[in-house]
Amino acid sequence: MAPSETDSLKISWLRICERLKSEVGDVEYRMWIQRITLGPLDEDEIVLYLPERFLRDWVRAQYGQRLQSLWREESPLVQHVELRVDKKAQRAASADETPAPSEPTMPARSNISIMAKEDAAALERESSSPSHSTGGEVRNDLAVPLDRRFTFDNFVVGKPNEFAYACAGRVADHPASPGFNPLFLYGGVGLGKTHLMHAIGLKLISRGNISVAYMSAEKFMYRFIASMQSKSQMEFKEQLRSVDVLMIDDLQFLIGKNSTQEEFFHTFNALVDAGRQIIVSADKSPSDLSGLEDRLRTRLGCGMVADIHATTFELRISILEAKAKASGTPVPPKVLEYLAHKITTNVRELEGALNRLIAHADLVGRPVTLESTQDVLKDMLKAHERRVTIDEIQRKVAEHFNIRLTDMSSARRARAVARPRQIAMFLAKQLTSRSLPEIGRKFGNRDHTTVMHAVNRVSELMEQDPGLAESVELLRHMLES
Ligand code: ADP
Ligand code: MG
Repeated sequence: MAPSETDSLKISWLRICERLKSEVGDVEYRMWIQRITLGPLDEDEIVLYLPERFLRDWVRAQYGQRLQSLWREESPLVQHVELRVDKKAQRAASADETPAPSEPTMPARSNISIMAKEDAAALERESSSPSHSTGGEVRNDLAVPLDRRFTFDNFVVGKPNEFAYACAGRVADHPASPGFNPLFLYGGVGLGKTHLMHAIGLKLISRGNISVAYMSAEKFMYRFIASMQSKSQMEFKEQLRSVDVLMIDDLQFLIGKNSTQEEFFHTFNALVDAGRQIIVSADKSPSDLSGLEDRLRTRLGCGMVADIHATTFELRISILEAKAKASGTPVPPKVLEYLAHKITTNVRELEGALNRLIAHADLVGRPVTLESTQDVLKDMLKAHERRVTIDEIQRKVAEHFNIRLTDMSSARRARAVARPRQIAMFLAKQLTSRSLPEIGRKFGNRDHTTVMHAVNRVSELMEQDPGLAESVELLRHMLES
């Protein structure tokens, strides 16, 4: 690397540190970010070192995405961030301001980005202890080991995932039974697809005498291409076709990658024809995975297709309760409810928020409270607050003032109806990113000047009338929580 490039990376890193410091506060900064050492740039991937594995995992979970987006903003050279463990990193950092340890403990794995959390973690285990990672028979040369935390026991079952859970359990008990091959699990990000796949694998392995290969579609492609480059394609094919159970995670990655799809298709057929089990996950159903070859989509839909739906409030509470209990740190039910209300899309984020609270409480030696929660998760929650919709605002305001929802868009001008309508417009302007004309359209096709008038009028009234100001604040609070 040319010296000027190194310097520019260092400058970028300093700026990123400054920004993170202002975002996360001093305590968290010192605890986590300051432990990071800048490593080398490997193509478009910047390596960051942490001295301990748990620090690395924590930083990855809490700040991984943020680090990546900050790097992308700061430096055109960097597209990905790779977090690695290097015991010497801390010493190097304190001895000298130019860290970059010369011999990282992990081999370069440029295809694994920090986004592929489970893969990267598993890969590290693979490289540090190739034969003992899961105890059972896993093809380490081919697949990545399974994460022992992702068991059926640790999976909280509720309405949205009970069908997928049952299918997964069935396949774990009776692999390759008719009607369940392939098992196709699909659903949004962070809803437990990878967890269920690992659970199946762990259960199968615990009974022994069965070979299970799990890998992301990304890794499948990487291995496939690597085998072509090293002219070991036959070996790759044979290895793949010798497993009893093949699991490919995040199949949507293969969209647009035609030769890899083709290879997967052949592997798929060979295995199913030989009576082996295939398990696939994706973010959409086979029929919605446009961009996959038709014949592959057809075959994927031939077995059991199980959808994991978005979580419900009840499921989120159950998951939080289970995780809080497992952590051993008391978390008040009010805090769990608050989190389950605020973070609705993704279990991974929910889990991340809870972990952050618990770590913070341990760190400062104070119990978790609603106040500390709001404070610690400020930045994280802000991102969720922006999602209030005009429909929700109309509903809440109508409920609050005891008027009909249809009156939000009706032509009635009686004050009992018109004032709440104006308040709803005011809140729509404040809490959403909609423009005045867009808001007007949602309120019975009113003109944007009507909306502007409403916004001004409510601001004025709030100054004159504390009762009204209080109502509006209460509504805002309810909508944001
Ligand atoms: P996906 O693969 O669907 O994106 P993951 O399986 O990686 O999601 O799940 C994200 C995180 O949320 C994991 O840590 C997982 O253990 C956890 N998780 C998801 N669903 C559940 C559940 N029902 N019970 C317990 N943990 C869950
Ligand atoms: Mg996954």
